[in-house]
Amino acid sequence: MPPPSTLSLWDETAEESDFRSPLTGDVTTDVAIVGGGYTGLSTALHAAERGLDCCVLEARQIGFGGSGRNVGLLNAGLWLPPQDVRAKLGGERGARLVDILGDGPAYVMSLIERHQIRCELTRSGTIHAAHSEDGLKDLTRRAEEWARLGAPVRLLSRQETAEKIGSHAFHGGLLDARAGTLNPMGYVRGLARAAKGAGARIHTEAPVTKLIKQPDGWLLETAHGTVRAKSVILATNAYSDGLWPGLEESFVPIHFFQVATVPLGARIASILPERQGIWDTGRIMFSLRRDAADRLIIGSMGAAIGGAKGLSERWASRQLKRLFPDLGPVEFETSWHGRIAMTADHLPRIHRLDDGLYTPIGYNGRGIAPGTVFGKAMADLLAGGAEADLLMPVTDVRPETARGLKAGFYEAAFAVNQVFRSL
Ligand SMILES: Cc1cc2nc3c(=O)[nH]c(=O)nc-3n(C[C@H](O)[C@H](O)[C@H](O)COP(=O)(O)OP(=O)(O)OC[C@H]3O[C@@H](n4cnc5c(N)ncnc54)[C@H](O)[C@@H]3O)c2cc1C
Repeated sequence: MPPPSTLSLWDETAEESDFRSPLTGDVTTDVAIVGGGYTGLSTALHAAERGLDCCVLEARQIGFGGSGRNVGLLNAGLWLPPQDVRAKLGGERGARLVDILGDGPAYVMSLIERHQIRCELTRSGTIHAAHSEDGLKDLTRRAEEWARLGAPVRLLSRQETAEKIGSHAFHGGLLDARAGTLNPMGYVRGLARAAKGAGARIHTEAPVTKLIKQPDGWLLETAHGTVRAKSVILATNAYSDGLWPGLEESFVPIHFFQVATVPLGARIASILPERQGIWDTGRIMFSLRRDAADRLIIGSMGAAIGGAKGLSERWASRQLKRLFPDLGPVEFETSWHGRIAMTADHLPRIHRLDDGLYTPIGYNGRGIAPGTVFGKAMADLLAGGAEADLLMPVTDVRPETARGLKAGFYEAAFAVNQVFRSL
């Protein structure tokens, strides 16, 4: 049983091995990548496959950020419905992004297959569940648009939703057959293994403390070594620190916590029997899934509070009782949280911070497929592609208005929600 202080359940249960490889000495490379999550490792994998020499520097361990802590819902598209993405980005560019990210899960699944990544992949879809009649209206609008685009996304009746989830709590659901679930840490460690196999160097426990512009590229300083590179990709997303001035201030950081039960075996035979993962339409949404060992993993927005028998476990107990009145009391194994980078318009960004220095950032809690796909797009750019072909217009970094106030407000609202819903 993992101690409560581990990074996440996935850190303990991922079949793919972790590795530690600190940087000592001085390295020269084509591309330096800061951050060992999906974005950084996908950039490294695809850049190495295109013959570029690259070196990843991760401050802590592979998957230390969102990539080793998330729910594992391998979803298509973005957080926003496709019509809203087009409205915000403009017709042609928006349509291209929707199209490419619509195929995002299939691309991730193809990488998993190609590199034999052991990450508990399921392919039976995910369900966006309606918590209210208004939620159902939102899902209906999404379903109509995905149907117009020819995507295999289907609105489920109240009864079908109850059968697929094993709960009568929902007004309906949207089943996306393109999606699936995975063990997030298994996937990110597998990407690291694949990138190493393709020739990328990967160093862990190597926080980059300084980025210094040189006449022919960049010098990255760490405590025990340096890297000289022609180009740099910052793949630090919600875990960005003060390395590049203003980057941390360009998004609102919020937390999402999860609580995992012990393996429940046959007791949960009727809960998510086809193993879809779900999230709901509530403003403070929650998520629920099973893992390969038949744990239930339930989460919501905010930080995990209180450890064993603490507030988050009480919240989880209460929610499981509400959803599955016949389940009875369950024992919990662990809880954890991670940080999400929210942007005001809920769209990700690609910033050019300086010559040869880029960052894809701000996935708004939908980063497994987008991080992988944006990483591949960065590799295309580094291999000689055009900025105009990137998935988002390249922009300058701008501070998010009233970031501190918004972050404080959201975290307070999430904590109150946990207290209120644990009673
Ligand atoms: C709790 C939670 C649930 C989520 N659920 C889902 C989900 O179900 N589906 C989905 O698609 N998305 C989900 N997301 C979002 C998804 O996890 C992220 O968008 C994705 O992991 C981002 O990947 P990344 O590689 O860009 O960044 P990260 O995985 O966060 O990696 C950034 C890395 O940069 C490193 N770093 C930072 N500064 C430095 C430095 N100076 N030097 C060296 N290294 C540095 C950090 O240590 C970190 O490992 C969730 C996120 C969270 C937190």
